Amino acid sequence: MSFDFQEFRSHFPILYQDIHPKKKLVYFDNAATTQKPISVAQKLDHYMMKVNGNIHRGTHKMAADATKAYEDARDIVVNFMNASSREEVIFTKGTTESINLVAFSLGELCINQGDEIIVSELEHHANIVPWQMLCQRKGAVLRVIPFSDKGELDLDAFASLLNEKTKIVAVNHASNALGTINPISEIIRMGHENGAYVLIDGAQGIAHCEVDVQKLDCDFYAFSGHKIYGPTGTGVLYGKKEILDKMPPFMTGGEMIDTVTFGETTFNVLPYKFEPGTPNYIDVIALGEAVSFVAKYGKPALFEWEHELYCYAMSKLRQIEGMRFFGEADNKVGIISFAIDGIHHFDLGTLLDQLGFAVRTGRLCVDPIMDHYKVQGMTRVSLSPYNTKEEIDQFYNALLRLQQMFL
Ligand code: PMP
Repeated sequence: MSFDFQEFRSHFPILYQDIHPKKKLVYFDNAATTQKPISVAQKLDHYMMKVNGNIHRGTHKMAADATKAYEDARDIVVNFMNASSREEVIFTKGTTESINLVAFSLGELCINQGDEIIVSELEHHANIVPWQMLCQRKGAVLRVIPFSDKGELDLDAFASLLNEKTKIVAVNHASNALGTINPISEIIRMGHENGAYVLIDGAQGIAHCEVDVQKLDCDFYAFSGHKIYGPTGTGVLYGKKEILDKMPPFMTGGEMIDTVTFGETTFNVLPYKFEPGTPNYIDVIALGEAVSFVAKYGKPALFEWEHELYCYAMSKLRQIEGMRFFGEADNKVGIISFAIDGIHHFDLGTLLDQLGFAVRTGRLCVDPIMDHYKVQGMTRVSLSPYNTKEEIDQFYNALLRLQQMFL
């Protein structure tokens, strides 16, 4: 099937609005959050208006129907990631919660004084701070894989950081600031050869890259629903069953228990052991719809078009004098971060907004990357397959126009 990008775009009505008087929206902030297709909004509407009953506990029809839809969403995610069982897919409220869950619970299981945890210099704060706090609690040490100015991780440096004290390696699949797709198969293999657990932060990887957790052999893979056309407040933690089984609960309360007395509590089976309280079931059901929506097109087709847009955008933007690009790795998702000589990123972002362009500016939740390049912030364009070459042309013309203003 050849990819019909106009048909794909037509599922996202939000993209067809004027965001300021006579200024059409051009949405280039997809790494922050993606827009939602109509079918996702319809799912939310249906379960809010017609089928709302608290799951896993009710005897009435709405509770039973909502429970089935929630568990069906789990099956959809299991297939999408090729997990080996539904016990390995835990619903959370996002990547941040998924990583915190592992940092707390796996940390309880395996981290002791003097142990080492490896992250990379390319990480989002959400994949740094939970590990840093774990290190502080346990007296462990955080080690960092550096990246080159091109934006690629230094695997030789990684190899030299690994040692018998390394217990956990946590890196992202794709960088939200530089767009680099990291060689995670290699990183997972190297981590495992050294006896470490490996977590992949898939917040940016999930919508763009193929993710087969059995083939990758990662121990954990975390992602957020809102970055893959699903609702905010939803996320997934994939974990290998044999490890999750050994990990203690993270948050506690109803649903995650088997029996409770004042003397002792026993815990529910997977995945419920890690899903305390009333889950965000309506949004999760809609996340299932978002994942099905992506699966219907197939990630390779979506990525091929996104990559074409990325190459087209780079070919245009390179023509602009005074542009500095951050991160030009060989293997990238459609993210372009840059600075323009003489224009502060906040000014640029504000003026672009006035012209209808939604981009992200600032520190992008990656202070270590800002420190690496010795900058205070960047301007980021992040593409989705619903973007168009016309939008890129308009953006190029807008940048030229704004540059004139600052001369
Ligand atoms: N990791 C990366 C690479 C991200 O891009 C983000 C979101 N920008 C996160 C983690 C955190 O995701 P969330 O805010 O949805 O929990």
